[in-house]
Amino acid sequence: MDSAVPHIRSVDGAPAADGFAPRPRIVVVGVGHGGMEAVKELDGTPADVLLVDRNNYHKFQPLLYQVATAGLQEGDITQSARHIFQKQKNVDFRLATVLGADLDARVLQVDQGPPIPYDYLILAAGASTAYFGVEGAQTYGFPLKNVADAVNLRSHVLLQFEKANRNAALIEEGALNFVVVGGGATGVETAGALIELFDRVLCRDFAGLDVDRARVILVERGDALMEAYKPDLQAYTKRQLEKRGVEVWLDTAVESVSAEAVQFEGGESLATQTLIWAAGVRANPLADELGLEQTRGSRLVVDDTLRVSGHPEVFAVGDLAGATDPTGQLYPQVAQVAIQQGIHAAKEIERAMRGIQPEAFQYKDLGQMATIGRNAAILEFPSGRGLKGLLAWLGWAVIHVVNLVGFRNRLSVLINWVYNYFTYDRGPRVIMSTWPETDEVQQPVLTTAPTASDGVGGSYDPRLATESEEA
Ligand SMILES: Cc1cc2nc3c(=O)[nH]c(=O)nc-3n(C[C@H](O)[C@H](O)[C@H](O)COP(=O)(O)OP(=O)(O)OC[C@H]3O[C@@H](n4cnc5c(N)ncnc54)[C@H](O)[C@@H]3O)c2cc1C
Repeated sequence: MDSAVPHIRSVDGAPAADGFAPRPRIVVVGVGHGGMEAVKELDGTPADVLLVDRNNYHKFQPLLYQVATAGLQEGDITQSARHIFQKQKNVDFRLATVLGADLDARVLQVDQGPPIPYDYLILAAGASTAYFGVEGAQTYGFPLKNVADAVNLRSHVLLQFEKANRNAALIEEGALNFVVVGGGATGVETAGALIELFDRVLCRDFAGLDVDRARVILVERGDALMEAYKPDLQAYTKRQLEKRGVEVWLDTAVESVSAEAVQFEGGESLATQTLIWAAGVRANPLADELGLEQTRGSRLVVDDTLRVSGHPEVFAVGDLAGATDPTGQLYPQVAQVAIQQGIHAAKEIERAMRGIQPEAFQYKDLGQMATIGRNAAILEFPSGRGLKGLLAWLGWAVIHVVNLVGFRNRLSVLINWVYNYFTYDRGPRVIMSTWPETDEVQQPVLTTAPTASDGVGGSYDPRLATESEEA
């Protein structure tokens, strides 16, 4: 394969005077785990690197559920892209949503500013939520993919308690029924954190409300939680959640969702105003806009070097990419895969620039882990050996702190966790109105919350109803 690419451009679309720029331009879309590591790997490479993201920050998704359950603040798990790459001389950042690309002309279309030409491209735009066509799930369900999702969910949960506190009759209508759909890591962690928030914190905040009436129901269509783990760890997870008060409903599939209830296949329904959709992942919709072959979950088909078909200068990594292991299985959409693929794609570009033969991506499995709640987590080593309980929980905490981006965030999260552990308290339980971070690539993203004078009251979520709306 000829992976070396002639360098044809200089800055922002203008060809260099002689038609050849002295340095190639490498564009990386997304400052998530994959994109960030790719750019770091390109430090010192004789190329101009442009990082493009619709947000000006990297977010640490594994701890989003803690923002949603008032354990951490959004600033604890985010870091501005410019700060991360302040000292890396060959990097610039562009705040823009990538809408599509002309891969033959090697140009990206963006919502803000001129189109972006590239010599090499790394696509690392991540994933978005899959609703599998379940009626009402997208409209009434709460996803948990972005910072805005987490802040919305936290606000909504706290509002439900405020509403129930004003009018206890609303509990009968499901105001305090919190349904989490999906028994994978996000669902388990969110359910475990919610019940702790209710039992240890909100019961003290809402002295006049019978907080015990709040229910957390974890719904999974399969016959076990944490399907990627060994059976004994699955069983431990279920036991621990139930011990803490989470109702675990296995073999239960959601048929439809409305503002007031969830309907299950088989005819049963449950009154709820809060359905957290942690059940499905698909590639970011940008994948649909590129005219490239896609595989399961709309992920972009790539070869074993992570190149997309027909364009040796274009790589896809992380959740967006449909790379397969030597047995033909798609890699899981987890941080380590994205990190290692981002590094690999960057190295491939360096190899191509030096005229060295491409190499196949090789994944080094570091194992997997998830937390259930205070003192309880599960950890599975690459060897298949499992660990559960306090030791696994401490391991989980250490690894998550270490992997956060930035010393300030590490310190802040550590202090918060130690404080929360000993005081049984949580961070500020603040109700905020936010504007959605959309995955729709056709729409520009508003980066500031609209004010009341914009006519939308600063909130897009009809469930964050005001006093007058409720009446
Ligand atoms: C709630 C939650 C919990 C998780 N927990 C774990 C866990 O415990 N362990 C684990 O290993 N993995 C976990 N994951 C998965 C892990 O976070 C992902 O696999 C990983 O983040 C993928 O990295 P990525 O670089 O592919 O995408 P992301 O990290 O999602 O980054 C994508 C970036 O692209 C940007 N972007 C998207 N579209 C555009 C566009 N059109 N234009 C410009 N920029 C765009 C986004 O703003 C984002 O910055 C979790 C995921 C979620 C949602």
